[in-house]
Amino acid sequence: MNSQTQDKFTLINELARRRGFFWQSYEIYGGASGFVTYGFLGTRLKQNIEKKLRDLFVNKLGILEIEAPIIAPAKVFEASGHVEHFKEPMVECLKCGRRFRADHLLKEKARLSETEVEKLTLEELKNAIERNDVRCPECGGAFGEPKYFLTMFKTSIGPYSEAVGYGRPEAAQNIFVEFRRLYENAREKLPFGVMQIGHALRNEISPRQGLIRLREFTIVDVEFFFDPEEPNCYLLKDLENETLRLVLAESKLRGSEEIVEVTVKEALEKGFIKVPWQAVFMALAKKLLTELGVPAEKQRFIEKLPWERAHYSLQSFDQEVYVDRWGWVEVSGHAYRTDYDLKRHMQFSGVDTRVFKEYEKPVEIEKTVVKPLMAKLGPKFKGETQKIAEILAEMNPEEVEESFKKKGYYMLGEHKILPEYVEIVKCKVTEKGKHFIPHVVEPSFGLDRLVYVTLEYAYHVKDDRVILSFPRDIAPIQVGVYPLVSKDGLPEKAMQVYKMLIDEGFIAEYDEAGSIGRRYARADEAGIPLGITIDYETLKDDTVTIRDRDTWRQVRNKIAVLPELLHKYFRNKIDFEDLGEPLKE
Ligand code: AMP
Repeated sequence: MNSQTQDKFTLINELARRRGFFWQSYEIYGGASGFVTYGFLGTRLKQNIEKKLRDLFVNKLGILEIEAPIIAPAKVFEASGHVEHFKEPMVECLKCGRRFRADHLLKEKARLSETEVEKLTLEELKNAIERNDVRCPECGGAFGEPKYFLTMFKTSIGPYSEAVGYGRPEAAQNIFVEFRRLYENAREKLPFGVMQIGHALRNEISPRQGLIRLREFTIVDVEFFFDPEEPNCYLLKDLENETLRLVLAESKLRGSEEIVEVTVKEALEKGFIKVPWQAVFMALAKKLLTELGVPAEKQRFIEKLPWERAHYSLQSFDQEVYVDRWGWVEVSGHAYRTDYDLKRHMQFSGVDTRVFKEYEKPVEIEKTVVKPLMAKLGPKFKGETQKIAEILAEMNPEEVEESFKKKGYYMLGEHKILPEYVEIVKCKVTEKGKHFIPHVVEPSFGLDRLVYVTLEYAYHVKDDRVILSFPRDIAPIQVGVYPLVSKDGLPEKAMQVYKMLIDEGFIAEYDEAGSIGRRYARADEAGIPLGITIDYETLKDDTVTIRDRDTWRQVRNKIAVLPELLHKYFRNKIDFEDLGEPLKE
């Protein structure tokens, strides 16, 4: 196959291996699917994209960043609902024993849509596989019964096999479990946000999509906490006119993927997006992807149907980017997680995760509440009674009643609450303020997928040569420095220029190997935006040529002015033409 017939996915993976962006890990032992090692260009590119996210969320919006462990005791993921829900349907080939995601096979082989496959039960998946005669892609064998597979990595903590731990499948839970402390750090004011960037582990059943589906990947989770009655979305003014391309759940139900293009303001007015903070983060995500080089028309936000959403979400949009091999691929998820996680951790840990907001004057309201019966709780829980009673009183009466019905008790942390310990009553209460659990919206980015789409949209071919046209602020190497020939004092002069640029904080590369044309070609393929060439003129008047990666145009200027001009250029303050006098062709 030549480069005309190969798709971009194949071309990029080949280039990535050859030039040191990334490759499959553990190659000397045959490789392990779903694990990737970034080489020096890929590491830099990924770090630069990460820096962009950090600039946006931490530096510009004041979101607090944390770094917490990857392994958590089982309790954390029992509370979060992952142990129960983080499962995928799997089938095993009866002939060769290979295992696959049942829903993915149906999408690929039977051309069923995501909407259709996501709601199928195991029984229905089995029938659909039989009806469509879906067979093992490796050996053509038939499949056995589909089963659910828990896609969290399970381990034990320390030398005790009973101390079960899980590798985190998302960075969000670290934020929820530390909420009390983080709220204090945020000076006990809502709204506020916390971000964590780190590795996430998902034991994907059959990852075959390079950077897009990994078993260990980097996730960027932002949890933004707000009062649902007073969201105070102070960014709305700045972003209300940004446009979003939405595929709404109602269209999907009609079997259509029609895109409606609306401003953030319209999306909220029309009720397409429930929460202002979510709409604002979607607008920021769109701007970010545009800055990574993905044109707006190659992006969309697709709403998830109730059965496609994660267990914690009330409304979810996936930000998708169109890629050559796979079509629309999710790069970030935007979920309205409500108070689900904090409430579950309050219930499982027995630690209060509520915040208090004082009213201007006390109000009297009628509500259904869980009323703890102190006379019953006291003898059972002794010194802890007061604390347990306070938390119980905040629990959702419907959930408590349902648990009584189903199990005969309700678990509050370690404590078993029996029906006779409480009453569910309607009562009038005077309240000075309200205790409530903040609501959360979450933008969650897969950093490796951002790296992939950045590479795909940077990939161009000009005169049979590959150019990676990275936006200049994320290019892994900023400047190449080249002596025209490696003699007559040109290498020494070029080395001086190179050292000066390094000293000024630029990421530069010195290259004197091979003809200048070959060096330019190598630099274009590594996505280096500028090339500085030292020639015989330089020795006379201290000027150099500066070459643009994308247009191959050249300008000339004095060495002494380079640092200032290049700083401006890489901050997008000036254009290539502003770097010097055009060279006569
Ligand atoms: P989710 O929590 O499933 O919405 O995932 C959040 C983000 O992580 C997604 O938008 C993807 O960009 C990314 N992601 C999810 N699973 C994987 C994976 N197996 N490999 C690489 N990135 C992933």
